[in-house]
Amino acid sequence: MPSYVDTYYTRTLSPDAAYPALSGKQAAEICIVGGGLAGLTTGLELARRGRSVAVLEARRVAWGASGRNGGFVSPGWAARAGQVLRRVGPDHAKALFRLSMEGVTMVEDAIRDLNISDANVSPGILRVSRYENTRSLETLRDEQEREFGRHLRLLVREEVQALLLSKKYHQALLDEASFHFHPLNYSRALAREIVRLGGCVYEDSPAVQADLRGQEHIVRTPSGEVKAATVVLAGGGYTDSIFPAMRRSFLPIATYVVLSELAPDLIASAIRTRAGVSDGRRAGDYYRVVDGRLLWGGRITTRTSGPRDIAAVIRREIVTTYPQLEALKIETAWSGLMAYARHLMPLIGPLMPNVWSCTGFGGHGLNTTAIGARVVAEAIAGEGDRHRLFAPFGFVWNGGPFGTAAAQLTYWAYQGMDFLRERRSALAA
Ligand SMILES: Cc1cc2nc3c(=O)[nH]c(=O)nc-3n(C[C@H](O)[C@H](O)[C@H](O)COP(=O)(O)OP(=O)(O)OC[C@H]3O[C@@H](n4cnc5c(N)ncnc54)[C@H](O)[C@@H]3O)c2cc1C
Repeated sequence: MPSYVDTYYTRTLSPDAAYPALSGKQAAEICIVGGGLAGLTTGLELARRGRSVAVLEARRVAWGASGRNGGFVSPGWAARAGQVLRRVGPDHAKALFRLSMEGVTMVEDAIRDLNISDANVSPGILRVSRYENTRSLETLRDEQEREFGRHLRLLVREEVQALLLSKKYHQALLDEASFHFHPLNYSRALAREIVRLGGCVYEDSPAVQADLRGQEHIVRTPSGEVKAATVVLAGGGYTDSIFPAMRRSFLPIATYVVLSELAPDLIASAIRTRAGVSDGRRAGDYYRVVDGRLLWGGRITTRTSGPRDIAAVIRREIVTTYPQLEALKIETAWSGLMAYARHLMPLIGPLMPNVWSCTGFGGHGLNTTAIGARVVAEAIAGEGDRHRLFAPFGFVWNGGPFGTAAAQLTYWAYQGMDFLRERRSALAA
């Protein structure tokens, strides 16, 4: 059985049985390729509707991004609100934002209904600004209250600095309804529920060949095949070229997380909140304190290199933000791949008759995989067409090597803009 990458989550994973590899010829109404949160939630939504499902996972359940992320669950999409608004207009953008809120509720409901206590939910996400930003945070707070009934609390600089002892920070918006959690324990609980409802989950079962043309589709792994009327592709950033139309529509982007040594007192000299913290930069940092350790994520790159040198880069970022953490040692570091379409929105919809895509959730996937899965399941079950809200964000070519270069350049440009904005704010102070 393939093993998980060493992360905070695998170190704190609850004991759980492995699932068998697919063997021989099997049949299901729906075959789902990919056992991350997109595939698992699609499987669960369909199993709850009485459909027979088979989930094929190449390695382990939530081995990819779903089992190694920051664990922040909040409304929104990987695309910024302004980008969505410009493409689809105000009413449509609001409908999409409401879906993203429903995604948060779905995760909360699953944790409660399935009694997933080892999801270790901790409430509160603090979005902090690294430059003077009172006016736009007030506007955002008021707009979110008016349009969506969300209550965000604006913290002034003194309040922020009582929680986060860093000179880098100005104001923040505290969202007490959002939360952070243990995504790997959560994911594995979804897999258990699929099986409890009669569905099948196969680990160590990469789809290596697919025949998607006839009435009945056949997906093959090295040791078996699944015959299914409907196939859902949910391979995230790990989708390979056996699904060329899918693979051409997104770029895999790597991002990184480090976990510090156990040092509760030292960390408390810098961070005095249990909320998760993310800074408002377009390519910003996010972090939280877990069991007396600091879990800190950030940086993206189109190179899919190992995380070792990146650990040093992130350590510098930690110390620049909190010089008092100079002595804090990093115990482990890991990376994960996110799938980004050019428009930064998920790729949700039919790719061809009875073949659905549920992928491309980028760096904001914990709520969006949930709702993406639900709208795909609704469509497959003939219950609704909310997936059409994603139609303006279609399967656009990712630009190949030019797309990769453009993504990296855009990230560097964002970093440059963030830097200039901070400098201007510091000079004006
Ligand atoms: C380091 C990191 C931090 C993040 N932090 C956050 C956060 O704090 N909050 C947030 O909202 N989002 C965050 N995200 C984003 C979020 O984790 C992802 O958007 C989400 O998990 C994507 O889920 P997925 O199911 O689409 O893909 P994945 O979780 O990557 O799952 C895809 C699965 O498909 C499998 N697979 C691929 N090809 C095949 C095949 N041919 N056959 C069988 N199986 C296959 C893979 O092995 C993999 O397990 C983060 C991502 C990363 C990488």
